[in-house]
Amino acid sequence: MTTLAIPDDDAIDVFRTCISKVRDKDLKNRLSEIEYLIAKTAAEYRKKAEATKLFRLKPMHCAGDVKKDELTSVYTSRFALKGSPGRHIYDRLKNAPAHGRCPLCWQRTVGTLDHYLPKAEFPIYSVLPINLIPACIDCNKLKSDEVPRKASEQTIHPYFDNFEDDRWLVASHKEDDPYTVRFSTDPPDKWTSIAKKRLQKHFQTFELGVLYSSHAAVEIEGIIPRLKNIKRIAGTCGVKTHLHEEWESRLNARTNSWQTALYCELSSNKWFYSGGFE
Ligand SMILES: [Zn+2]
Repeated sequence: MTTLAIPDDDAIDVFRTCISKVRDKDLKNRLSEIEYLIAKTAAEYRKKAEATKLFRLKPMHCAGDVKKDELTSVYTSRFALKGSPGRHIYDRLKNAPAHGRCPLCWQRTVGTLDHYLPKAEFPIYSVLPINLIPACIDCNKLKSDEVPRKASEQTIHPYFDNFEDDRWLVASHKEDDPYTVRFSTDPPDKWTSIAKKRLQKHFQTFELGVLYSSHAAVEIEGIIPRLKNIKRIAGTCGVKTHLHEEWESRLNARTNSWQTALYCELSSNKWFYSGGFE
């Protein structure tokens, strides 16, 4: 997971851009008439997001005389569609994460924008930039249209949360099996119980344990030939030193990557570095 800079787009400007080419006069009038609602609800969203209380917002299935499907269509036909008036904003939001990585799993590449509060329940936020999270296709599908009903059910919001200052991702090896590593969350005691539950909710919603275990097994498969060479030349001590240096390098790059957690485990698991990998 990672944090992203909060988009500074004005909610009304984005909405106006999206509806700028609506030809149906009646629809255009009805959409224009809800601009005040777009501004009002955007301000409410921002306020709640900054207080980690988005779960308090109630689903809103229409706005003024504009129906739900007309609002969601602003997103699909006038924002996400290639060549549509809002597409350049869509692309800018989608391309924001470093290395094109999904901020929710920090593993796969971004393929879409995910509505943090789903447009099926909150169509008024269909094109609100601070509700649109760059995400990989898998994370987008796994979250689906789930709506948080209490504080602890809120997954990590990359624009408003920072869970990366402390180490919380840990890996543990199953002895006698060099390829099986399990990943879990273990945040510091100083975290609030809600923050701990939110992290766990995020980890489960996006099935990060399964994802990271799979990648770790492939990583281990790739390093075993080298570890065998190091052991032959420099012994167990050499293997431990090599794995420790890998861990330090990964930790320096990213506190809670699966690689950091993996090399922490491999360099401290005596069974593994002593020859369990052979
Ligand atoms: Zn993802």
